[in-house]
Amino acid sequence: MSSATGILYVVATPIGHLEDITLRALDVLRQVDLIAAEDTRHCRTLLTRYDISTATTSLHQHNERAKTPALLNHLRQGRTLALVSDAGTPLISDPGYPLISAALAESIRVIPIPGPCAAITALSAAGLPTDRFAFEGFPPRQAAARRRFFETLRDEPRTLVFYESSHRIEACLQDLAATFPPKRRLVLAKELTKVHESLISSRIQDAPAMLERSADLKKGEFVLIVEGAPPPKGDEVSPEHRRILHLLLAECSLKTAVSLAEKITGARKKPLYAEALSWQERNS
Ligand code: SAM
Repeated sequence: MSSATGILYVVATPIGHLEDITLRALDVLRQVDLIAAEDTRHCRTLLTRYDISTATTSLHQHNERAKTPALLNHLRQGRTLALVSDAGTPLISDPGYPLISAALAESIRVIPIPGPCAAITALSAAGLPTDRFAFEGFPPRQAAARRRFFETLRDEPRTLVFYESSHRIEACLQDLAATFPPKRRLVLAKELTKVHESLISSRIQDAPAMLERSADLKKGEFVLIVEGAPPPKGDEVSPEHRRILHLLLAECSLKTAVSLAEKITGARKKPLYAEALSWQERNS
């Protein structure tokens, strides 16, 4: 498969079940001159399953910047390249951004070959609104940063989607429970398309205990889907006013912060004060 300018295919591969791959993806993987894979051994399992013998080279988060020039050179010579990651759609919390952006900057044709993505797979069966959603990738690994990150998303009205590994799922659910309103719905989508697939729906407040009760539940790969915030009622602090108040609370006393927030936003003092007290409680 050759063309005058070379073509870069971005190919989605299974997130577990090896049969979740399109006929077109198999065709591309069979015909390209080279496959850049996040892990060549992992990729070989898929290729062997479909009797594909195309050459592979590695492209992962630690070598992708160094490796991009050589792959661009390959494309400049009119040869084709397929990019695959270990699971799902490349670039979605996966390597490939430097290569794709550099190829586009050189007007090299980039063709996406669609297929599985854990976030979309989980959303499709979670039973939470999907008309609008925000994909937030992996939460920060460090506890304090993770809590701050969740704080900024508490008032987001869109359904939230996170990725998490088994190492941090417990801590992640605990921090969600500490920062989000307890009755908000959460769906834990585990091991999608695999033998131990499960999608469990609960209230945020119940999720940590649920995980605690089952050792099996802690193992595997997870997508977390969190219900978005309801629109603020008339007497509630709006997300933007809350953001301003929180910034002020981080810098001055509760009394001063409330008074300044009242002046800046024009909002009523009573709900601002109540919000300030609950912020102080959560951050003490
Ligand atoms: N590019 C992939 C995609 O399209 O979904 C995601 C790659 S990211 C490095 C890996 C994370 O995706 C895992 O830690 C987990 O959060 C999520 N994930 C991948 N496969 C999954 C599966 N079968 N079930 C649940 N979550 C999965």
